[in-house]
Amino acid sequence: CDMGGLENLVANTAYLNAQGGDDKELRRRRRSLLLPRPEQCAAIRSSIPLDFEQVCERQPIGKKLFRQFLLASKPEYTAAAEFLDELNEWDLEESGSKDKARQNIMNKFCRAESNSFLSYLSGDVTDKCKAVSEKDFDEVMMGKVKDATKKFLKGKPFTEFHSSLFFDRFVQWKAYEKQPISEKYFYEFRTLGKGGFGEVCAVQVKNTGHMYACKKLDKKHLKKKGGGAMSMLEKRILEKVNSRFLVNLAYAFDTTTHLCLVMSLMTGGDLKYHIYNMGERGIEPNRVIYYTAQITVGLLHLHAMDIVYRDMKPENVLLDSQGQCRLSDLGLAVELPSGKTICQKAGTSGYMAPEILKEEPYRMSVDWWALGCSIYEMVAGRLPFKDYKEKVQKEEVARRTLEDECKFEHKGFDAASKDIISLFLKKKPEERLGYKWKFFKSISFPRLEAGLIKPPWVPKPNVVYAKDMGDIRDFSEVKGVEFDSNDEKFFKEFSTGAVSIPWQQEMIDSGLFDELNDPNRKESSWGLKEN
Ligand code: ADP
Ligand code: MG
Ligand code: MG
Repeated sequence: CDMGGLENLVANTAYLNAQGGDDKELRRRRRSLLLPRPEQCAAIRSSIPLDFEQVCERQPIGKKLFRQFLLASKPEYTAAAEFLDELNEWDLEESGSKDKARQNIMNKFCRAESNSFLSYLSGDVTDKCKAVSEKDFDEVMMGKVKDATKKFLKGKPFTEFHSSLFFDRFVQWKAYEKQPISEKYFYEFRTLGKGGFGEVCAVQVKNTGHMYACKKLDKKHLKKKGGGAMSMLEKRILEKVNSRFLVNLAYAFDTTTHLCLVMSLMTGGDLKYHIYNMGERGIEPNRVIYYTAQITVGLLHLHAMDIVYRDMKPENVLLDSQGQCRLSDLGLAVELPSGKTICQKAGTSGYMAPEILKEEPYRMSVDWWALGCSIYEMVAGRLPFKDYKEKVQKEEVARRTLEDECKFEHKGFDAASKDIISLFLKKKPEERLGYKWKFFKSISFPRLEAGLIKPPWVPKPNVVYAKDMGDIRDFSEVKGVEFDSNDEKFFKEFSTGAVSIPWQQEMIDSGLFDELNDPNRKESSWGLKEN
């Protein structure tokens, strides 16, 4: 009997079942959950900054409660909330119907005779609205109305919200968010992969049923190898980013043996696996375009925050269960405030840009080079300067990168893909293009960013796209490492618990937000429940 095989089967079954969602145990748990009582929340209340963007725009629960407040207030506030809702929907319309939809919105909200007129609009905006025919309601004017709405909401409505019951409820949710997190908060499932300092396994939040990946860093291993500072840097960058195309951090906590990073679970395998392990080498053109568009948005998101990724390669692009991708492993990422450069040699052989190899100062340009290499690899099943399974020294790959022209011999290249790869693989960083639209002409970026474009390929729900556990588990124990007070301080600094935005999103998506806000819910035993 093959015990390893059996163990693997049992672990896979438990893991796949958990992803199936809804079970009795979960519903039972949820019925017993309660928010912390308002009187337990005074300290939290005073720690929340009086900042409109922070509270009412960035944080999903704040945004939802502020909207509920507006809809329950004066007609003028209700109209503002409805205008913003319709604006969001409009943004995601397909281009054919956008003009008509915009005119409808402007007619509804900007004409003084309409029931939903935004009465806070200043004279010059409304005068303009009166003067023009509806065909002239352009995006510029729409932007002006949007700005005026935001300015209005930041004033009196925000102040009123702040002293309303809706804000009291927000404070309770913030207190709930700050609860201490330990391993008891999760169920643990099979190992998905192995990293430098420990395993990555699937976990499920007991209260919501939400599945995540948990990257566990062995504390002793970290101390022995001096990996603490790097891991802290990775954690700090992960908690700052929030994008549909980056693996997001939802929780950071520690156990007696490990530091744990809980991130978006990606069950569809990495792109390297899809290039080389799914039959014929390479990925179909429509999938290459789709993934490249998502990667591009992910990179732009990092760059907008002055972060260089430095580890762009198919292996680090993971697919979720829907077939959408995210960049993962931000262990090499660095923050470079604008104007600053770095010359440190970092990255993976075959994907490193000429400026890195020459140890010249660089910034974001190196990520676009590596993306060029990655697109090439998705199409051709090999790298531009290194053939598949070619036994070649790093120095030779570097020489080719610096001196050779990139060749497009594979039959999979068409004009558009050659074009974009050539633009990314310009040896001089100043000639290199960020990205080019022609290649993406089939992609609408606002719809892509809202997750509305259907993936061209969807992972099968009953397949585990990870190597068998026997191949990845590692039982070796680090000996002779003791922790001192500095280590304990570091572990504490690392273990900051829930990360606001993904945590609040989890509460909303799982329905727990609505359940706990339900006015009919029994409030007899209000108080923070243990995990
Ligand atoms: P390291 O930085 O130590 O290399 P990684 O972040 O690359 O660690 O994670 C190690 C492996 O764990 C990956 O190669 C992948 O197989 C798996 N893995 C990492 N993050 C996730 C995730 N979010 N979802 C699913 N599997 C993951
Ligand atoms: Mg890795
Ligand atoms: Mg790493």
